[in-house]
Amino acid sequence: MSAEDVPGQFPGTAPTVALGTVDDHVERILSRLEPLQPYEQQLLDSLGLSVCEDIVSPMALPAFDNSAMDGYAVCFADVVGASRDQPVYLPVVGEIAAGQTKIFAMSPGTTVRIMTGAPVPYGADAVVPVEWTDGGEVQVRIHRAPTEGQHIRRKGEDVEPGDVLLEDGTVLGPRQLGLLASVGRAQVLSRPRPRVVVISTGAELREPGSPLGPDSIYDANSYMLAAQARAAGAITYRVGIVSDDPDDFASTLSDQLVRADMVVTSGGVSKGQYDVVKDVLTRAGTVEFGEVAMQPGKPQGFGVIGEDAVPIFTLPGNPVSAYVSFEVFCVPAIRRMMGRTPYLRPPVRALTSHGMSSPAGKRQFVRAQFEVDRGGAHVTPIAAHGSHLVGDLSDANALIVVPEDVTSVAPGTHVQVLVLDRDF
Ligand code: AMP
Ligand code: MG
Repeated sequence: MSAEDVPGQFPGTAPTVALGTVDDHVERILSRLEPLQPYEQQLLDSLGLSVCEDIVSPMALPAFDNSAMDGYAVCFADVVGASRDQPVYLPVVGEIAAGQTKIFAMSPGTTVRIMTGAPVPYGADAVVPVEWTDGGEVQVRIHRAPTEGQHIRRKGEDVEPGDVLLEDGTVLGPRQLGLLASVGRAQVLSRPRPRVVVISTGAELREPGSPLGPDSIYDANSYMLAAQARAAGAITYRVGIVSDDPDDFASTLSDQLVRADMVVTSGGVSKGQYDVVKDVLTRAGTVEFGEVAMQPGKPQGFGVIGEDAVPIFTLPGNPVSAYVSFEVFCVPAIRRMMGRTPYLRPPVRALTSHGMSSPAGKRQFVRAQFEVDRGGAHVTPIAAHGSHLVGDLSDANALIVVPEDVTSVAPGTHVQVLVLDRDF
C-alpha cells in the first residue's frame, strides 16, 4: 500500500509510524543523550548545576579556635564560682578583634577582651560574654562563670581537612556554594546548562505585541517552551516564528545549530499538507517521526541533526500538547544533559475528586489542580480536554497520569499525579 492510499491521511504524506509507549519514547531519547562535559565554573555560575568531582576539604573549619561571643577570654580556673554576690575581678591586658593577625598569649590571673570570630589566645580556655560583666576596659568585673571551654568554637569541630564535603553528582544550592567558599574554593567542576533553541513554525503565527490579522494567532508556544526549558535549568534561545516554507525552516535551523545543545520545535508534525518540520527533517533522515501512545501529544519526532548530532525534539503545535510533550520528554533530556537525577519527575499519589475516562492503550495526562491539606493530597481534574485550551492549562498545577490500561477512573480513588513547577 502506498502512502497515497493510507486512510485518514492527505495524499503524499508519509505513513504513520508507531513510536510505542511514553516509556519507550523516553527510553529512546535518554539512550541517545550524554551528559554535557563539565568544566571549572565560578561558584555563582554553578548554582543549580551538578558537581563533577568529590570535593575534599583542604582545611579545617573553623580554621582556628575562635570566640563565639563578644566578651573576655579567661582561664576557666580564675572565674569558677563567679556570681553577683561574689564577682571576680581581672585585669584586662589586651584586646583581640576578628581579623587580627598577631598571635596572642595570656597568663592566668589576667583577661583579654575578645570579639566574635577572633582567635582565642593561648592560655585561655573559656570566653565570658560581655553581658556577664561590667564591660570594663582596664579591669573587668565578672558576675557569672562560664563552663570550661564555653563560647569557644574549636578548630575542626565542623570540618576536618580531608573530609568529603560534597559527593560527585550533588546539585549545588546556596548552602553548598557557601560551604565551598568557606574552604576557599573559587571555582568548581560542574556540568553546564544545555543551550536550548526554541522555534515555532506556522504561517498563522504572529509575535505578541504585533497586530493580529483575522486568520492569525499569537505564538504562545515559543514563550511557553522557552520558559519550561529555563525552569528545567537550560539556557534558552527563543528564535520565535518560522513560516511554513521549507527553505526558511531549513536555513533557520542550520543557522541556530552553532549555539544549540538541543533544539525544540513546535508545530508542523501532524498529518497536514504544510507540515514543514516533518518535510524538511524527514529528508535529513536522522529524525524519526511517528505517534506515541499518549494523549495529548501523540505526534512526536525525535532525532539528531547537523555535524555535531544535536538532539532535536519536534513537538506538536497545539499548546497543551506541546506543554505536556516538553514536560514528559524534554525535561528528562535536559536533566540528563545536566547530570541531574532523577531524570523523570516522581509522581505522587492523590485522591481525585472526580472520575474520568481515558482512551484504551494510551497514557493520558489530565490537567488538574493539586492541593495538600490536613486530609492529605487531593487532585481535581480541570473539566475540558481540548489541547488548544491554554486558559485551562494556566489554571492547572498538576497532571493526572492515567495509565495505558485504565479506561475509567472512579471519583474518590487514588491516582498518580505529576505536580508541576516543583524542583525534583
Ligand atoms: P500544527 O501542528 O502546526 O498543525 O498546529 C496544530 C495547532 O496548534 C494549530 O491550531 C496551530 O495553529 C496551533 N499552533 C501551532 N503552533 C502554535 C504556537 N506557536 N502557538 C500557538 N498555537 C500554535
Ligand atoms: Mg502548523
